[in-house]
Amino acid sequence: MQSTSTPAADLRTARVISPYANPIANAQNGSLVIVRGEGVHVYDEHGRRYLEGVAALWYASLGFSAQRLIDAAHRQMATLPCYHAFGNKISDVCLELAARIVEIAPPGLGQVFFGSSGSDANDTAMKLVRYYNNARGRPLKRKFISRHWGYHGTSLATAALTGVPRNHAGFDLPMADVLRVECPNHWRNALPGESEEAYASRLVAEIEALIQREGADTIAAFIAEPVAGVGGVLVPPATYFEKLQPLLRRHDILFLVDEVITGFGRLGHMFGCDAFALKPDMLTLAKALSGGYQPISALLVSDEIASTVARQSAQLGVFGHGYTYSAHPVPAAVALEALSIYREMDLPNWVRARAETFWQMLDPLRASPIIGQIRGLGLMAGIEVVADRTTKASFRPEVGAARVLERNCLAEGLIVRALGETVGLAPPLIISHDEIRDLGERLARAVAVTERQLLA
Ligand code: PLP
Repeated sequence: MQSTSTPAADLRTARVISPYANPIANAQNGSLVIVRGEGVHVYDEHGRRYLEGVAALWYASLGFSAQRLIDAAHRQMATLPCYHAFGNKISDVCLELAARIVEIAPPGLGQVFFGSSGSDANDTAMKLVRYYNNARGRPLKRKFISRHWGYHGTSLATAALTGVPRNHAGFDLPMADVLRVECPNHWRNALPGESEEAYASRLVAEIEALIQREGADTIAAFIAEPVAGVGGVLVPPATYFEKLQPLLRRHDILFLVDEVITGFGRLGHMFGCDAFALKPDMLTLAKALSGGYQPISALLVSDEIASTVARQSAQLGVFGHGYTYSAHPVPAAVALEALSIYREMDLPNWVRARAETFWQMLDPLRASPIIGQIRGLGLMAGIEVVADRTTKASFRPEVGAARVLERNCLAEGLIVRALGETVGLAPPLIISHDEIRDLGERLARAVAVTERQLLA
């Protein structure tokens, strides 16, 4: 219920420190206050309807009115509204959820640590990697390799893993123990005439050179998203992961796959690991795990890591890590219901069927003089805005070209997300074919307006 005594404008500008906002601009322009959701749409305080083209923050895979998720939360609230997993206590629903996740996850990942966010899942992974190597008598093996434009969270440690400059500026980041390599972007960064395979070989050779330079005995893990999301929807070139994984194994470097966005069907596979034949030692999940209805994350680890951590904890007397809201029963109950729905939907095939319409809808936009590339997989796309298609030159940063397109989409009743010079699209997975076509019409009108504004 909206407050009747205080206008929303006061609340939104004065009292909330908004993530990723420009507070001064927000104070001047006001915020978009969303009050209701239904299907793939959300409504603002004035009753205006928007098609949510990025499923809010990539998570509302089942849209904004999935009654079964709401009922699951109600039921759990009425039975056991809160509990924890400290010591030897745990709720039944968390035990069941762990078993269900392990059942569908890539093989070899037998244990789960629950948290409340993608950041805390990756943060836990960073800590576990240290714990694991300390237990193995390799205390120097603690550096992480992460990629430019990778996004892994905003806690102090995970923001250091994140390779997006705006997450570092002003925070004295990144920190030591994080090594950075190129995030593959064949379209932008390959040499003239270089094939995807040759480009992948070159990048993996660069990683190998880095490992040699730093010493494999100092490098603990490599983290990557199967398709980089927030960094601009970057799909890896052919053979990249195929070549990378044996290199990591050769050097005893753990592979942490961040599926916070790509997990649960987004790419037309249950996991990005399935799409790219990834065999991680650790995997992080969040967002669509509960359809975004409740905050929950899961870190899955290999049996080898789990047993080493167990031995070390027994020796130290305790595993000294955990959050108050780790393994909270209400998000767990919602996640269990979401997993049941995904199974009934036959999610990978469901997404692939819609993805056909989605990519057909995007195709005509490639003709626009301001669209440099449209890339992605499944129901996830990045549309890169350029000033010159031949040279691939971007508009000057102060133009904020993707933001202009984002604003014009909003005026058309479509929410998209500017990610640098790229606009991200990742609609709820329940989107119908007609709604995809509607999304396409709104987007096409917004692109046409943006073209006129930017090329004027
Ligand atoms: N990892 C990836 C790939 C993400 O996209 C995000 C958030 O968008 C995170 C981690 C961090 O998740 P959270 O914002 O829940 O901490």
